[in-house]
Amino acid sequence: MLKLESIQLRQGDFTLSADLQVEPGQIVAVMGPSGGGKSTLINAIAGFLRPKVGRILWNGADLTALPPGKRPIAVLFQDNNLFPHLTVMQNLALAIRPSGRLSLAEVEQVDTVLIRVGLQGLGPRKPGALSGGQQSRAALARVLLSGQPLILLDEPFAALGPGLKDEMLDLTLSVMGTQGQTVLMVTHDPDDAQRIATAVVAVEAGIASSPIPTAGFLAAPPPGMQTYLGQKNKVRFKPPY
Ligand code: ADP
Ligand code: MG
Repeated sequence: MLKLESIQLRQGDFTLSADLQVEPGQIVAVMGPSGGGKSTLINAIAGFLRPKVGRILWNGADLTALPPGKRPIAVLFQDNNLFPHLTVMQNLALAIRPSGRLSLAEVEQVDTVLIRVGLQGLGPRKPGALSGGQQSRAALARVLLSGQPLILLDEPFAALGPGLKDEMLDLTLSVMGTQGQTVLMVTHDPDDAQRIATAVVAVEAGIASSPIPTAGFLAAPPPGMQTYLGQKNKVRFKPPY
């Protein structure tokens, strides 16, 4: 279980408070207006930003003082963070070992994940020789191979078209769902939450809420989220003229 115990985060003049927990194996959407603190929250859990107050716990262990690399966490940002000068295989190898030197069994493990994300045979290619969708798949494969139990996705598929995005969401649900990983995914799209998230953390007015079951959240959003979701709904249901 991920527990944010009365944390307070500062970014310049901005302060975000969170006192919440996420049950293991859940996929939770993190939603709220731009500048509301969603990335701040993700960065704190990942260890890139230290809380001024409070503790971050994973299964009872205190992560608060640990550097990012020592946390049981893998992060995927929108820009995918693949190394452009390395092949897909080399990029994925680094997810398993910092040296990038893999045993035969580990090479097979990478091949298995490549099949799973639909990139069979593309290991020798560099990211520049892949389509945007294929790059996203490779980045998702890297997160999967990390074997970490807690996965943080910060608007990972925002740059993709709707069809491809849904495909990546379904892949996230099937792969991470079956591996029992806990996932926090930042998204602006209520459809994304409805598609794969059991609950939503609302980040707004300096507060990150406890997870609210997705159906209830969308049917009756908290007061501060209504304008935000209303705007989204207007865009979603815009008539074709
Ligand atoms: P979101 O991801 O919800 O769009 P962020 O977490 O990126 O929001 O930002 C929350 C607030 O923190 C914003 O008001 C932003 O201006 C401020 N902020 C973010 N990063 C920094 C920084 N490095 N220095 C100062 N202020 C920052
Ligand atoms: Mg952000």
